[in-house]
Amino acid sequence: MTTHSKYFYPAAKHLRCDEVIHIGKNCWESTIWNFTGTILSCVKFVLPLALIPIIMKIRNLNKDVFMQSFRIFVDFFFGAWLVSGLGLSSICLFRRICGVFYYYTVLAVPAGLGAFISSWIISERAKHHYAHGLSTVAFQVSITRGDFYIFKLLRNSRLAITIAFMALNATLMHGLRENHTGRFYWLTQPLKSKTEYHEFYEESAVMDKISPIVRSQIKCCAHEDSCDTFIFNGIKKFFKFGVGLEIARHLIYNYSRILRNPLIIFNVFFKQLNWNLVLFLVGYVGVYRFIYCWRSRRNIYLCEETSKKDNQLASLMSGLVFYLYPDQSIFSHTVITIIEIYWTHYYEQIKTFLKWIPLEKINMIHVVFPLVFGYVTHIRTFYPYLAPAIQKKLMHLSTNYKDAAIFTAYHKFLFGLTPQFLL
Ligand SMILES: [Zn+2]
Ligand SMILES: [Zn+2]
Repeated sequence: MTTHSKYFYPAAKHLRCDEVIHIGKNCWESTIWNFTGTILSCVKFVLPLALIPIIMKIRNLNKDVFMQSFRIFVDFFFGAWLVSGLGLSSICLFRRICGVFYYYTVLAVPAGLGAFISSWIISERAKHHYAHGLSTVAFQVSITRGDFYIFKLLRNSRLAITIAFMALNATLMHGLRENHTGRFYWLTQPLKSKTEYHEFYEESAVMDKISPIVRSQIKCCAHEDSCDTFIFNGIKKFFKFGVGLEIARHLIYNYSRILRNPLIIFNVFFKQLNWNLVLFLVGYVGVYRFIYCWRSRRNIYLCEETSKKDNQLASLMSGLVFYLYPDQSIFSHTVITIIEIYWTHYYEQIKTFLKWIPLEKINMIHVVFPLVFGYVTHIRTFYPYLAPAIQKKLMHLSTNYKDAAIFTAYHKFLFGLTPQFLL
């Protein structure tokens, strides 16, 4: 970071904001543009997200699904639009307050301020999801550039990151099983043991052969339907989820191409879909459910401790599928979800341990959201090769490419070049 800041001071410190932030406009015109010029692009940003419930329930569409979709759209649109408008406008504010551009007040602090103000206004759902997504990006940057041996190992060895994912997955699923708030979502929910014997037993053609139930008339698993149906339904659901996710991702990436030539949609969807991601999702839930059912069928006394261990074993083994799709974003998402779950679960102990911080008076989202947003904005501009492609695309959309214009102008002043390939 020091090398960059060394170049920054002599080259960019004394620039005016109409030389680099809003060329050809004054600050007020730029502020108005920040809130009007980004409306349409924020719609583009949020639309694929809002379409996910519709794609997931395409065969059972009803009023509730459309309402759910609409609410997602409103919450996320307002969040993206406000954070983007306030973040961009705060750049001028800090330039006026400081009189010059400082390395951190040029983007990181204004972006953080925009996120901080927004975190008091936008919906709970939007700020939690945005904060979670941004924390994931921030952690992913650590894997990509971190100097610690562990980060180097994770980015260079497929086997190491798979083993780490297996351990993390078991930790996460255990935490999820112990957590009773119902606030956390993961790929699949951990199963709990049945607390009472069931009078009936539904036959499973496949599982009955692999693991015959010891005492018939007893249903050991904590799920509805037979084990076969339960496993198959999971696979079917995750296949649809994977394809839906890929369609949403391609919609974001190929918006303008599809608008210009709608026929390209077939080419994009069928030739470019990432089947490894779909395979990972299907394998993940398939292996988890299979091992869990297989183990539960042996736990005829419905022992809670055995069930906990079964959950850990099943989630450890299902993590093996990560080898097929060792994606750093999924890995980072797992780490951030673990922190959230264990923070909630051990909140009382953490509070006692950190007595000197008045944690009960602080809503962590107002701290985390500005910090991570400021950090990833800074990284995106000054270290663009570290920013994940999806982050760049989403920042282009939420700012209507103003981030790219600012980025280009800075790099021209700092290094005298326009690195188009990094945009
Ligand atoms: Zn300005
Ligand atoms: Zn079962």
